[in-house]
Amino acid sequence: MALLCLSLLTPAAHAFETQHGTLTVTYADLRDRQQLGAVFKAWDAAARDLKALGLPPPARVRIEAALNAADFMARTGEPVNIAASTQGNVIRTQRLSALAGRGLLPITIRHEALHTAQPAGIPRWLAEGLARTFSGEGRADPRTPTGLEGLPDSRLNAELLNRDLTRLNAAYREATRRAAKLVRQQGWAGALR
Ligand SMILES: [Zn+2]
Repeated sequence: MALLCLSLLTPAAHAFETQHGTLTVTYADLRDRQQLGAVFKAWDAAARDLKALGLPPPARVRIEAALNAADFMARTGEPVNIAASTQGNVIRTQRLSALAGRGLLPITIRHEALHTAQPAGIPRWLAEGLARTFSGEGRADPRTPTGLEGLPDSRLNAELLNRDLTRLNAAYREATRRAAKLVRQQGWAGALR
């Protein structure tokens, strides 16, 4: 019984691996090979822009693309509507061609690149807000009120763990609004102090 559970939860074994400078990409679906050029291009631009902001990404970063949504859930514990999840210098993503098909691949790489470079211990709202500001996701947010303007930062952190998608969406928008304002007023270095 335990073995069966383990085999179901073990990430797909036959991963393909490729190296691009200091970046390693592993993928389990051969079709993802067609997306590697887009991944490298997005990564190189993000790394260059992060360095210019005084936030160099770690010396070695690994992107692990899941075989499918179930494999992603097993690897990260995140729900299927999440595009990617970063811990330290490891970025775990949905299948690359699935992200590309939804027009999300470059923006996801850029968002997660910021997470690899962010100082340890910054609040969740600031990390998500800065990642969405850096990736450009914030530019597509509606300018309408989020309804969370009066929420203390600590409560906003809690809202970002919400599994109710409507509320989660508002929380991401609010975090982005606050982070973008900090960057406008104090620059990136000031926002991260
Ligand atoms: Zn994020």
